[in-house]
Amino acid sequence: STTAIPETMKGVLAVAVGGPEVLEYRTDLPVPKPGNGQVLVKNTTVGINYIDTYFRGGIYPSPKPEVLGRDGEGHIVAVGEGETYGLKQGDRVVWMGSGGYAEYSAISALHVARIPEGIPDTIAVASLLQGLTALTMIRESHNTKPGEFCLVHAAAGGVGLWLCQLLKALGARVIGTASNAAKIEEAKRNGAEFMIDYSQEKDLVARVMEFTNGQGVEAVFDGVGKDTFEDDLKVVKRKGTLVSFGNASGVVPPFSITKLAPKCIKLLRPQVFGYIATREEFTTYTEELFRIIQQDKLDVKIHKIYELQDVQTVHRDLEGRKTMGKLLMRP
Ligand code: NDP
Repeated sequence: STTAIPETMKGVLAVAVGGPEVLEYRTDLPVPKPGNGQVLVKNTTVGINYIDTYFRGGIYPSPKPEVLGRDGEGHIVAVGEGETYGLKQGDRVVWMGSGGYAEYSAISALHVARIPEGIPDTIAVASLLQGLTALTMIRESHNTKPGEFCLVHAAAGGVGLWLCQLLKALGARVIGTASNAAKIEEAKRNGAEFMIDYSQEKDLVARVMEFTNGQGVEAVFDGVGKDTFEDDLKVVKRKGTLVSFGNASGVVPPFSITKLAPKCIKLLRPQVFGYIATREEFTTYTEELFRIIQQDKLDVKIHKIYELQDVQTVHRDLEGRKTMGKLLMRP
């Protein structure tokens, strides 16, 4: 039954393209109805991802007004028609989708997982999207092997800390970048062997070459984008892989592919949803992620749990490079 579901809810609307000021907290948003293949989740905690700032700021065009937010956890209050993979009202779930900055979200059941016993709900929501991003990239973007040197930019960020931990766990050697001493400490605690403060270091390329005995790295994982791309081409070794997966400093400008030729560089621009497009892919990776969290006792860093009303501050903190790990909000 859906009788307990109200007509309106608290949430945040991005009313136009712009800075954090376009994010408006509302108490009168319509509660969405679960469509075909969807479930309706009453959120307990929702996540913030850097991509939210791209939709808000217009780097990724999307219609406005819009409810941002790509992940959350809570319980299912209604199940739509069609294939919903056995999910039931009352299930405690973690999800990836859209429309997260709100009390209720209608989410494709394909990307909804029950939270296993033994994983706290906030850890589940802090892990799913960013953990799957890191896990799929170290498998599929570049199938990383023990002993390989990898460069991870923004290593103390949400995805960055996951990359550090997962790469370390498989025996790869992580060189990370971050913009201050506290972030450098955090990335090292999470498995980075060498760290470079790229806000101070004049010659990142020379430092990476030093750490790798002049060889360069097998793979670069770069969510920073514009500011780091040219250096990435210089530090990746012959036949190595450059995984460019984000634009925190801006979009990588168009470039000539002949730059890849001298070292036969593989260049990849993945998005996590492309690796978990089927239910089987999603459940296989999600179950593995949950297993890793429990067995390897991963340290899932939560920067802070904010109130939904403080959403403008959340975006300012994230874009102001003030955060480490995952940002969450309570609707
Ligand atoms: P982070 O927590 O990593 O925050 C972004 C970090 O980027 C900052 O903390 C900062 O770290 C660094 N940074 C470097 N230059 C700038 C700049 N000019 N302005 C702001 N920050 C800068 O965010 P997420 O973990 O949410 O995301 C990390 C990246 O991964 C993003 O680019 C995001 O879009 C991408 N992503 C891509 C996915 C995909 O499917 N392709 C999925 C998930 C995330 P520091 O201060 O140390 O430089």
